[in-house]
Amino acid sequence: MQKKILVLPGDGIGPEIVAEAVKVLEFFNSKNGDPFVLETGLIGGSAYEETGAPLPEETLGKARASDAILLGAVGGYQWDSLDRELRPEKGLLGLRAGLDLYANLRPAILYSQLASASTLREEVVSGLDLMIVRELTGGIYFGQPRGIRTLENGEREGFNTLVYRESEIERIAHTAFQIASRRDKRVCSVDKANVLEVTGLWREVMEKVAREYPEIELSHMYVDNASMQLVRNPKQFDVLVTTNMFGDILSDCAAMLTGSIGMLPSASLNRQGQGMYEPIHGSAPDIAGKGIANPMATILSVSMMMRYSLDSPEIADQIDAAVGRVLDAGYRTADIYTDGMKQVGTSEMGDAMIAVLNGEEI
Ligand code: NAD
Repeated sequence: MQKKILVLPGDGIGPEIVAEAVKVLEFFNSKNGDPFVLETGLIGGSAYEETGAPLPEETLGKARASDAILLGAVGGYQWDSLDRELRPEKGLLGLRAGLDLYANLRPAILYSQLASASTLREEVVSGLDLMIVRELTGGIYFGQPRGIRTLENGEREGFNTLVYRESEIERIAHTAFQIASRRDKRVCSVDKANVLEVTGLWREVMEKVAREYPEIELSHMYVDNASMQLVRNPKQFDVLVTTNMFGDILSDCAAMLTGSIGMLPSASLNRQGQGMYEPIHGSAPDIAGKGIANPMATILSVSMMMRYSLDSPEIADQIDAAVGRVLDAGYRTADIYTDGMKQVGTSEMGDAMIAVLNGEEI
C-alpha cells in the first residue's frame, strides 16, 4: 500500500533543504515502484503570508490524513513582532498538539569523519550514538495554572505548574523501551525525584513499565548529574528518557556534543506511530537563499521517517550508509567544512547522495 507523506518546506532555508530530501524520496519512488505519495502544504511565516494563519486548516487536514510529515523549518525575523497566535512557531505547536505528537526523538550521532567538529576531545565523542526521548506535550510547558499574578502587597509573582499523569508517563516509557529494544537495550530515565514529587511518580511508573521489557536494562539519574555525565562521558548512554523541560535542555546539550546541528534529525510521534520529521535546527535566516545550507539533517529525518513511521528500515539503512559514504568522499557544506575537504552547496550535497544511492563512485 502506498504511504502518504506531507511535505512542509516552511521558511528560510526550509525549502532549500527539503528539496534535497525530496530528491531522496523521489529516488526510492523511481527505484521501488512509487511507494510514497508526496503532497505539499503551507506552514509558518510563508503560510501566514498566503493565508493569514501559520497553520491553515487545510494543512492540518492534510497532516491528519498522512502517514508522516516532513518539515523543513519555520520562523524569521520579519514575523517576530506578530501577535503570538500568528507567529510561525505557533504553526509547529499547532501541528504537535493537533496530532498529539507526544514523543520527541532526538538522536545525537557523531560521524567519525566529523569528530574534529566537536568542541569536546575526539576520544570523548567519536562514535557517539545516543537517543534522547523527550516527552513533548505535557509537563511544565503545558501545566495549568500558569501566569503572573499580583500579591496583596503589590509584588508580582510568576508561576507555572509541573504536572504529569500516570498515563502520560506510561506512554513515553513504552516509546523509550521499544526504541531501546532496537538498539543497545539500555534506558536511563532522567528525573529530579529527590526534590520534585511529580518526578518521583515518573520514576515509579518507569519501574512499572520496565517489568514488561525484561530484556531492557533501566537505570535512573538526576537531571543535574545527567547534564554533567553528558559532557563527561556521553558514550555511556544508549536511550535517555525524560520530561518535556529536562529533555528540551539535555537534547540541545547532546546536539552540541556533535558540533554540527546541520547533521541532526528529529522525530515527533503519536500513539499510532504517525510522525513529524524535521531537522533540529531552525530556518537559519542568515544563510537563507544562498544555497549553502546543509541538507543532511533533513535527509536523515527521512531516514528516521522510514524507520519509525513507514516501516521501511531497509531504506533507512541505505540512506544512513549513503550519508557516511558522502562524508567519506570529503563532501562538506560550509558548516562542517575543514581544511582539505571538498566544499559544496546544498544541491551538490543532495546530488552526491543520489549518486551514492545509485551506486556511482563520487
Ligand atoms: P537556527 O538553527 O536557524 O540557526 C543557528 C545557526 O546555525 C545559524 O548561524 C545558522 O546559519 C546555522 N544553521 C542552522 N541550520 C543550518 C544548516 N542546515 N546548515 C548550515 N548552517 C545552519 O537558529 P536561530 O538562528 O536561533 O533561529 C532562526 C529562526 O528559526 C528563528 O525564527 C527561530 O524561531 C526559528 N527556529 C525554528 C525551529 C523549527 O522550525 N523547528 C527551531 C529552532 C529555531
